[in-house]
Order: sequence, then C-alpha cells, then structure tokens
Amino acid sequence: MRLVLLGAPGSGKGTQASMLKKFLEIPHVSTGDLLRAAVKAGTALGLQAKAVMDAGDLVSDDIVLGMLEERVSQEDAKAGFILDGYPRNVAQCGALEALLERLGQPLDVAVKLEVPYELIVERIAGRAAAEGRIDDTPETVRARLRVYAEQTAPVADHFAEIGKLVIVDGVGELDDVFQRIVDALPA
Ligand code: AMP
Repeated sequence: MRLVLLGAPGSGKGTQASMLKKFLEIPHVSTGDLLRAAVKAGTALGLQAKAVMDAGDLVSDDIVLGMLEERVSQEDAKAGFILDGYPRNVAQCGALEALLERLGQPLDVAVKLEVPYELIVERIAGRAAAEGRIDDTPETVRARLRVYAEQTAPVADHFAEIGKLVIVDGVGELDDVFQRIVDALPA
C-alpha cells in the first residue's frame, strides 16, 4: 500500500502515520522528519533548510524531492509507504507522480484528515508545550498555517481530480480516527 496522508499541521497526521506504520507494516516517510534529521546532523543541506523551517516556510522543492527519492528508493519502501508532509504544494504533486512512475510504484490513495481550524490551533499549542519541537514557536506556527492554507490545501484538489482522495473526519479519539482511516483504505 502506497498512501499519502494529508492534513493541516496539528491534524494528527504524524500520530496516525505512526499507527498505520505498525498496522500496515510499511515505513512512515515524513519529509519533516527527514529535514529535521538533516538539520540535527548539521549537513550542508540541513543548514540551508533550517532558516526556512524556522520561518515556517517551505524548503525548496529540489531539496525535499532529493531526500524523498533517496528514502523511498530504500529496500524497506518496496512493500509500500505512508507519506506524511509531501506533497506540500501543487508542483510537488507532479514531482511525486513522476518519481513514483519512474520507480514503478504508483500511489494507491491520498487520505485527508479534516480538523476544524480552531482545534488545530489548540492542538499545536499543546504539542509545542509537550514536545518542545524546535519549529513550533507561535510565529512559526502562524506562518505554517498560512503556508498550509495558501499552498498545501490545493494539494487535496489535485488528488480529488485524479480520483484518489478520501476525506476522513480527524476529530475524536486517536483510535476512532485510526479506524476511520483503515475503513477508508482501498481493498
Ligand atoms: P512537518 O513536520 O511536515 O510539519 O514539516 C516541518 C517543516 O519542514 C515545514 O514547516 C517545512 O518548512 C519543511 N517541510 C516538510 N515537508 C516539506 C515539503 N514537502 N516541502 C517543503 N518543505 C517541507
């Protein structure tokens, strides 16, 4: 199963991706995690990405695509993967399609977690306090939500157009949301 998880920052995407990873026994590929690992490792690429991430903006399409290609080309991704954080804009939708076609691994489904805006803001504030994620300052969060609305929200339209979008209610207990996702997956 190759699936993309869509949803605003704080929609629960990351948590659900971890649960799906265990259930489907396929890797969880998060471009945010890949970028944070590069920042932590202090690679040239990480240094370049850090300022952009701190500002809540999107890292350049080329950098992220390169990291993604490297990750999904690894052996463990042959059985499938859960993509979290990519595509983040319409250009990345085309890049993903081209990459997966090249690898002979077409996407099965895009699942969008729908959560009302007020709840998103509440959840992110809670997460920032609990996890101390470096890119969760109030300014960064505001910028990330703006970038999401302007650049990432249209990504769902792309998947709807190609008939691969399913929308799942992301409000409620983690296990309930998880079950809704599992029920929405193609057979
Ligand atoms: P995330 O963990 O998915 O919320 O990502 C954290 C940050 O990493 C984002 O605010 C962006 O700066 C950067 N990032 C993650 N995925 C992408 C992507 N697909 N394209 C560009 N930037 C990304």
